[in-house]
Amino acid sequence: MKKYKYLLFDLDDTILDFGAAENKALDFVLKSHEISAVPGLYERYKTINQNHWEMLERNELTKDQVLTERHEMFFRELGETVDGSVVDDMYRTQIAEHGHRLFEGALDVIKILSEAYPLYIITNGVKDTQEKRLANSGILPYFKDVFISEDTGYQKPMKEFFDYTAGRIDGFHCEDALIIGDSLTSDILGGINSGIDTCWYNPKAKRNPFEFRADFEIRQLNELFHVLDR
Ligand SMILES: [Mg+2]
Repeated sequence: MKKYKYLLFDLDDTILDFGAAENKALDFVLKSHEISAVPGLYERYKTINQNHWEMLERNELTKDQVLTERHEMFFRELGETVDGSVVDDMYRTQIAEHGHRLFEGALDVIKILSEAYPLYIITNGVKDTQEKRLANSGILPYFKDVFISEDTGYQKPMKEFFDYTAGRIDGFHCEDALIIGDSLTSDILGGINSGIDTCWYNPKAKRNPFEFRADFEIRQLNELFHVLDR
């Protein structure tokens, strides 16, 4: 008998190539401020952005602060003062526009899995941005439901986010579900916080610097078939 009955997928950098969209958005934002991209600049933004989302995960910032202050800090380092909310509007418009590119092979895996399992999306993010990207990506028909942190009022890795999700899936039991995601601090820790098994999608073979471990680790999404058929 199959161990898992429900699959909960993270969206960004698990199914959708968020990095590619982010590069386009950054390019646009920098050009509009007449700043030319130098090597390492995008990586610096990504580090700042990541740090801000992790502060949200630890409840040290609100979501609105994350959205605006990440840009303010980035531009401050470039010697410019900007209104973070104006930059963020511009940035998120670009993300919504370009952010629906799927990782190669992701659609095939999703299609096949959707025939055997009810699939759900669990994503931290802004509702309108995520919904637009999902609609444009063409994957929505394969998912039973989508849970976006802005709707739930909580974000991964908070147990409350997963309680909300569990409460809205018919017949859901934590022990029947598997979370698949690229983020140790939101997806994997969230699963651990809420008693749901986890599969770490780690395509770049990053080192896990934390004490906690995922139940499974994969480099490609199609390795999920092995995980599920064990
Ligand atoms: Mg992710």
